[in-house]
Amino acid sequence: MSVLVAALGGAVAILLGIAFRRAAGAAGELGALADALPGATPSRSPAIVCRTLRIYFIKPSKYDDAGRVQYFWKGVLPNNTLTVLAALNDTYNELRRDQGVYLETVIWDEQVDGPILSATIRAMQEKALEDGVEVIIGLAGVQTNQYPRGRDLALQFRRAGFPVLFGGFHVSGYPETRAFLEDCGITTVVGEAETIWCELLDDYLRGQLRPSYSVTDGIRAKTGSGEITVPVITGAQLPAISDPYLHRFASSSMTTLDTSRGCPFTCSYCSVKNVMGRTMRARDPEAVVRWIRDAGDRHGIRSLFIVDDDFFRSPTWEPILEGMAAYRRDGHDLSFMMQVDAEAAAFGDLRPGEPPSSQRRKCERFLELAAAAGCYSAFVGFETFNPQNLLAAAKVQNLEKEQRRRKDQASDRALAAVKEKYRRVVHNWHRHGVAVHCGYMIGFPFDGPECGRQSAEWLLEVGVDLASFFIVTPLPGTEDHDKALREGTILDWDFNNYDSQHMVSHHPRMTTAQVVQAYRDAYLTFYSARNTMRSLLTFHGVPGLSWAARSAMWRQRAYYFYSYRAGRHPMLGGIWQRRLPAARREVLTDEEARGHYLGGGIVSAEGVRLGLPAA
Ligand code: SF4
Repeated sequence: MSVLVAALGGAVAILLGIAFRRAAGAAGELGALADALPGATPSRSPAIVCRTLRIYFIKPSKYDDAGRVQYFWKGVLPNNTLTVLAALNDTYNELRRDQGVYLETVIWDEQVDGPILSATIRAMQEKALEDGVEVIIGLAGVQTNQYPRGRDLALQFRRAGFPVLFGGFHVSGYPETRAFLEDCGITTVVGEAETIWCELLDDYLRGQLRPSYSVTDGIRAKTGSGEITVPVITGAQLPAISDPYLHRFASSSMTTLDTSRGCPFTCSYCSVKNVMGRTMRARDPEAVVRWIRDAGDRHGIRSLFIVDDDFFRSPTWEPILEGMAAYRRDGHDLSFMMQVDAEAAAFGDLRPGEPPSSQRRKCERFLELAAAAGCYSAFVGFETFNPQNLLAAAKVQNLEKEQRRRKDQASDRALAAVKEKYRRVVHNWHRHGVAVHCGYMIGFPFDGPECGRQSAEWLLEVGVDLASFFIVTPLPGTEDHDKALREGTILDWDFNNYDSQHMVSHHPRMTTAQVVQAYRDAYLTFYSARNTMRSLLTFHGVPGLSWAARSAMWRQRAYYFYSYRAGRHPMLGGIWQRRLPAARREVLTDEEARGHYLGGGIVSAEGVRLGLPAA
């Protein structure tokens, strides 16, 4: 049976491929799109096929500064939301297997599968009519900087008569955008989809798709300022691995996995706590370990990015790491990177005779197990050295405990304490062979024009292996955004620029140009030709690091050097940006987009004009 299911999936991919190629050819863009066909994920379960829904999960790209849709020869990080949603379709097929409904899944990541053009949309429409299937479009996991591109696609699909869903952090955290999209006939999905998806599809099948869905079935979790309902994910389906999708990336043996969700901390610039809550929820650890083994055995996965926002705070890190370590002891090749907070490795030397605290024992156990399980890189949010900035951003976990209550954050002593803490974090990870990749932000209120170069030098001094720099951005759904609104400091409302590479709000001490220059100084200093050459020529020869960590840092240092100089944030880009002249930005604001894309009204798939949405 599995052969049949695989054959069906393959056939879907081929048929869709033919349709896209034909449409692209008609538009004279066959060459550019030929390599950008999406991966169709075969469903695992058979169904009595009476009514087939072809669901496109689309991850929109963003526009670059020249207005082109960014897409790349190879991506660097697969998108976890797409594979999680594909898995939810599998679950639905199993649930409704005897009810005459069957879901086909197509995932399309614009960054690597290529921009969706009007010819592509026509091809989807023609192919659906030809196959006698219904189509649902799901714009998935849309971040704020992807919103303008996602909106433009959503409106074009809506104009073509498709039912369109729109989810992700941006709509989840920004009611104004939800109101606009819903007014245009687009259904918004707020929060995580696990307990929404089945109900939403059932509503669609009954012809009762609602304008908006949000989580109602779950547990209550605190956010930065209130409470939300979040789903329990213990038994949720794990991500569906799509081999064709992974082949669009620099390493096809690497994929992503989320084992827990939420974050207990309250950093004012971050929307994670407000969309996913501060109560940590985790998947069943045994299921996670089974999934990892299966990924290795059936898909050749050798490397994972555990995308949990703070894996150290996951209630199930211990059994998961034990399971991964056992898998490696069985002779399997497995390595991974993860995100953790600084506290996981901030402990210092014990004084003679001092017994280790239970917290310290927990940290040491975490580091030992992580190394045994194949961890080669820990991403740690250092964000700033300045203690006043840490307090202003409510990132108190990076301060020493006694410092959190002191009033002398402006003193040299307070700064030295933060530097010393970061040095210990790097040292402890290095002792276990794990490299440290830090996140660092430029443009906090107490930063000055020198902060970029100075911070990069300090990061090198404390021994950080890789650094990702970001400009502080008041993202919708964060306390920083609310504050910027109250104080009237937002300078730029084009969400396409909310990508941490542009300065979109007023800074109390620097001009916009100075903040951008400080950001450039930071990466030009950290990734100077000299530092990069030293890393490359010594194969990142940092004492203590494992071979896997050195190898990864060697490659990533080279990639970061290339990407920053190409003017792209390494975490948002890919390798070699491709150009497709037809894929350009045409409008700026929501209302321009409404007029431009819905000016001719909404037309159903059968060609029935449904009329304009209310202006
Ligand atoms: S920045 Fe990191 S530590 Fe802070 S709230 Fe967000 S996910 Fe948590």
